[in-house]
Amino acid sequence: MANKRLVIGNWKMNPETFEDAKRIARKTRITAGKLVRTEVVVCPPFPFISAAKARNLPAPFHIGAQSVSFDEGGPHTGEVSVKMLASLGAEYVIAGHSEERAAGDTDDAISRRISKIVEAGLTAVVCVGEKVRDENGAHLDFLKDQMKATFAGVPEDKAGRVVLAYEPIWAIGAKDAMQPEQVYEMSLFVKKIFADIFGQEAGHKVRVLYGGSVNFRNAGEIIKTGKVDGLLVGRESVNTPGFVELLRAVDVVE
Ligand code: PEP
Repeated sequence: MANKRLVIGNWKMNPETFEDAKRIARKTRITAGKLVRTEVVVCPPFPFISAAKARNLPAPFHIGAQSVSFDEGGPHTGEVSVKMLASLGAEYVIAGHSEERAAGDTDDAISRRISKIVEAGLTAVVCVGEKVRDENGAHLDFLKDQMKATFAGVPEDKAGRVVLAYEPIWAIGAKDAMQPEQVYEMSLFVKKIFADIFGQEAGHKVRVLYGGSVNFRNAGEIIKTGKVDGLLVGRESVNTPGFVELLRAVDVVE
């Protein structure tokens, strides 16, 4: 197959210790090495990125980060630059996660982060999603506006370095994921908006992931019926028995 499925584990602020991070990464890596149709990325917290790295990483296993500064370096206490992440071997960086948006990250700041990531040659995993669904379709307008603002200022020739993660906020950290049929509809919608922003070819090529309460039970069906290019997984990505099962469930979908 041309493009493998992409499953990205967002570890959020987990686990508590470096040893636990090494254990989770090791188990994920062993499973990832046996997959046929699926590529895996893990995004640990910054101090644990090196725990996820091994000298002889069997492909397909990649390192990502959960955020990055839009500054280059210098007097920015607490910040981490894209060059620092690249020097640790990170290839992917999440931008615009709803938890960061809720903590005050603005569309403008997110768009500057995305630009830094793609200009450095890394892949930006850009999270978009509505807070609530509305039977009159107001959530579609919300999503359209959010995407236009999020990508404003991102160089057009770098659209190929973006992976879209459609994450309806109401489904993140929730009990249930979105229904796979709705995932399919919404993935087409965000692709269309991406095409409106960056052009038809970019819209055709962009990979769309679904995120929001994915676990080993629902992952296969979301891939099969939702027809997405992959998944962005939060909680289940640090629950190693669950994540191992989830990766296998994704990989067996034809
Ligand atoms: C996320 O944080 O991106 C996410 C999808 O979380 P969860 O899988 O825990 O809902």
